[in-house]
Amino acid sequence: RSLPGRHLVGADTHCPYCALQCAMTITPAAGGPPEIAGRDFPTNRGGLCRKGWTSAALLDHPERLTTPLVRADDGVLRPASWDAALGRVAAQVTATRAAHGADAVGVFGGGGLTNEKAYQLGKFARLALGTSRIDYNGRFCMASAAAAGNRAFGVDRGLPFPVSDLDGAHTILLLGSNVAETMPPFVQHLRGARESGGLVVVDPRRTATADFTADGAGLHLQPVPATDLALLLGLCHLVIHDGLADKAYLADRTTGYAALARSVAAWWPERTSRTTGVPVAQLRETARLLAAGARSGGSYILTGRGVEQHVDGTDTATAAINLALLLGLPGSAHSGYGTLTGQGNGQGGREHGQKADQLPGYRKITDPAARAHVAKVWGVEEAAIPGPGLPAVELLASLGRPGGVRMFFVHGANPAVSAPDSTRVVDRLRSLDALVVCDFFLSETAALADVVLPALQWAEEDGTVTNLEGRVLRRRAAVPPPPGARSELWIMAGLAARLGAPSSFSDDPETVFTELRAASAGGPADYSGIDYALLDSGAAAYWPYPSGGTGTPRLFLDAFAHDGGRAALVPVAPAATGGHDAVTRDPLFAGGALALATGRLLEHYQSGAQTRRVPELAAASPGARLLIHPAAAAARGIPDGGPVTVANARGEAHCTAEYSTAQRLDTVFLPFHFPGLQGANLLTSSATDPVSGMPEFKTSSVTVAPGRVP
Ligand code: SF4
Repeated sequence: RSLPGRHLVGADTHCPYCALQCAMTITPAAGGPPEIAGRDFPTNRGGLCRKGWTSAALLDHPERLTTPLVRADDGVLRPASWDAALGRVAAQVTATRAAHGADAVGVFGGGGLTNEKAYQLGKFARLALGTSRIDYNGRFCMASAAAAGNRAFGVDRGLPFPVSDLDGAHTILLLGSNVAETMPPFVQHLRGARESGGLVVVDPRRTATADFTADGAGLHLQPVPATDLALLLGLCHLVIHDGLADKAYLADRTTGYAALARSVAAWWPERTSRTTGVPVAQLRETARLLAAGARSGGSYILTGRGVEQHVDGTDTATAAINLALLLGLPGSAHSGYGTLTGQGNGQGGREHGQKADQLPGYRKITDPAARAHVAKVWGVEEAAIPGPGLPAVELLASLGRPGGVRMFFVHGANPAVSAPDSTRVVDRLRSLDALVVCDFFLSETAALADVVLPALQWAEEDGTVTNLEGRVLRRRAAVPPPPGARSELWIMAGLAARLGAPSSFSDDPETVFTELRAASAGGPADYSGIDYALLDSGAAAYWPYPSGGTGTPRLFLDAFAHDGGRAALVPVAPAATGGHDAVTRDPLFAGGALALATGRLLEHYQSGAQTRRVPELAAASPGARLLIHPAAAAARGIPDGGPVTVANARGEAHCTAEYSTAQRLDTVFLPFHFPGLQGANLLTSSATDPVSGMPEFKTSSVTVAPGRVP
């Protein structure tokens, strides 16, 4: 591939995809595509996965959008000038607000947007559009762990310690994360625990990561799907009743021990084993390994989406934190609890204002002091900032309904594929008066839009992202953008001017970052001491990094963020209704149903809008394959490699069966990267966690049958 007419400049930057944010160098290559090379950095140490190596294919892709598209009266998207496209959008905003009020305009952001764009999008929604209706796709990703972290510690930072701290750990309990496929360079940080026999992987599926526990490297706990909360309650019980808890730590650094101990008293090992299917011996060995590591060498508990993307995801992550606190892990220099952020800027993207309930700096939008601070930075009265909006699933459900959102902006997201119960979401998107999508490809959501605005992508613009450790990184422009595409900062600035916004909107990333620093100053995620020059110097800038201060690689060493400095042990329990049986929790469950888990593949990222367009990745993984145990398949007459229909009352997906003894007999796995009739989210439920708004992605009841069902 070549980049005709475009001068390649090259740069040190970071990968466009996941939250590990592997460091890479983009180098010009005469007559061909730029070359991507891994760069030495603490998270990846020069390594890249298949997605990172092939990411240059996105830059000169033939399907790249380079001109605005506006839906004409005949229903066809046709090229338009920027002036015409932005004029149409601004006129529609004005008309919608006049007819239905400002909250009839909504915004949906993304966890892949740079910090500058995420910040500007929150400000754009609240000041230029005047709406409270903004949320983002991180609600589908990190919301439960974030809510649990705030509950327990008073602040949420995915990993409150550098990734490299894991290297020498004696024990790592990894719950619901298949890092061997989702972020392969991360695996090197598990080496110490594997060598000491202390890697414990909790996953209903024997994933590539679970395979690392073989040959004495650790344990694979394979619970009944969605019984993770019960498993963790049982481990808390064991730690207390086997005398493994760190009593001095609990007395000095936590609150709530007595209530927590009462809440897990009934989760004796045999009951836990009956509920989860995990043998008592494995439960005891897990508790023993964690306690041994806490005493010497270090113990870490890490959670991922497998245990968080449930209707009890916040309580499950809370139980994992309770277990860590009982053992005295958080706030230690050699142990801890963390959650593995998924999206490229999943951390920074949830800190600076694109969440429904949040202002920059990880401040609550309902906090009068936070509102006053941000209003001052923005140069407006506090009353000009709307109150909290709706979490993503509720926001999407409101589209096109009376009293709901009538005009919708989507930036850096593809909810037509990635949202739960996607048939209903597509119906709602179609019912809008106007849909405006900013993207660099015609994603499945963009294809539904009335106006498509072609945006720049990662290697074409400057900015910052915050990786899974809370470290702020510089993304650098390495290639000039194609003529016709524009940065989202430029687009927001242009629309804000047309709408007469009561604050200035810069299109310069460094200027926006300077404003973000001021808006975040004094907040939990304080970036005020970080600037581009500091990042360009190679400094490791972990937040909070106050002006005139230093960064914070390890949080909680002296105190937690709650008033009084103690962490809170929070009793949690499986819901009274639905119990802890995975499949009975889904109202669609019926005899013979299987539990469907959705998740990621090595070759693809999120909705696949980018990776499905990379030839090498598409060739390696061209379509959805349902992983099913051979015995479960044979019982249904399904041949290996044969067509299969996966169905429930929400919809049906058609794909290829792949026999896998890694699957439990009662579960199947379907990746969520594929659109149309292969869409895993045709089957998932829009039921959400009551605390975080996280949808239930990991356990849906489905029937599986050979061939296509009419
Ligand atoms: Fe690294 Fe993630 Fe990019 Fe792979 S996708 S190269 S693991 S940042």
